[in-house]
Amino acid sequence: MTAWEIKGWCPGALRPMQSGDGLVVRIRPPLCRLTPAQAKAIARAAETHGNGIIDLSARANLQLRGVTETSHPKLIDDLRTQGLIDKDIETETLRNLIVTPFRDAETGALAATLTAAFAQMPRLPGKFGFALDTGPLPVLTQASADIRVERSDEGYLILRPEGHLLGQPVADLARDAIAMAEWFVASGGISNGRGRMAALIAKGIVPPGCTLAPAEPLPTPIPGLHPDGALLALAFGQMRAETLHALADLNHEIRPTPWRMLLIVGATELPAIPGLITDPTDPILRITACTGAPACPQALGDTRNLARQLAPHLAASQTLHISGCAKGCAHPTAAETTLTATGQGYDLIRNGTAHDTPSLCNLTPEAILDHLKAPNAPHL
Ligand code: SF4
Repeated sequence: MTAWEIKGWCPGALRPMQSGDGLVVRIRPPLCRLTPAQAKAIARAAETHGNGIIDLSARANLQLRGVTETSHPKLIDDLRTQGLIDKDIETETLRNLIVTPFRDAETGALAATLTAAFAQMPRLPGKFGFALDTGPLPVLTQASADIRVERSDEGYLILRPEGHLLGQPVADLARDAIAMAEWFVASGGISNGRGRMAALIAKGIVPPGCTLAPAEPLPTPIPGLHPDGALLALAFGQMRAETLHALADLNHEIRPTPWRMLLIVGATELPAIPGLITDPTDPILRITACTGAPACPQALGDTRNLARQLAPHLAASQTLHISGCAKGCAHPTAAETTLTATGQGYDLIRNGTAHDTPSLCNLTPEAILDHLKAPNAPHL
């Protein structure tokens, strides 16, 4: 039994989720890319029908916040004209696909094939997703997914179930991806409508024919210029609609990534737009902070204001996770240092998750700051 609510599904555009600041409407950009016109439409919709705040999720989706029951239908109408809305909730829920932002024409074609295959997939849990990671080298290894399309060391296309080191060679991507999803269902991967591939693999249940290892992944990319364009970071994965408007005005395709960064395809210089981080050493990038209070109804304290206060005082290379409650949405695995809001302050946890046993309890923001500033203080 946990003290926080586990929803087991992700919000969509057609099925938004209630939050502390209104409805959260999640847009899944088709093929994980946006034309300038689509980006403009999302920015306009965020201003007109929401509170102007846009989140970039860890699954490379865009979330509009502060939408109301009244404004939601108009928002859907506006975005449907740009091809950003699925025909129904079931189609939207199944189309859970992250595509590598670094892609060639073949990856684009594979993304279209996989997207078309979703219509034939069995009914899968809401959080079950696919990662198409077929660029020059894998980069999505840390992104949440259940079935990964990758390349083997020798360059063969493989389907790898999350949690297993080896994948199956692919003969027909659509057919083989559907078959692996059906295998997951038939093997008992779903219980009470929920289930993830890694949990099934952890029980020692593995699909047949997994013989090929994926190529060695690249480290997570950093902001800056890359061969495919400019990678721009957003503090805590959040921006204002004005920032997206300004990016759309650059007139390049925009590819959302799972790293709280947007790839501006083909850009050869870093744009100077407020709200974007282009310096990979910016300490705010070393802090992970969930939505927190007041926007999350489960939060027991602020997260992001505290993060901005603490960032200048972090030691070089020090990382920090700040969580609005013990659920730890923004960093479900262990972090070097975690501060978890308790309602009476912040618990400090070393090398653990937001709900692990703290070493210090109910610290005030001032006490945390003093601790950081104190000469010779041990790092948080
Ligand atoms: S971890 Fe953060 S975002 Fe998740 S429920 Fe708690 S306060 Fe909300």
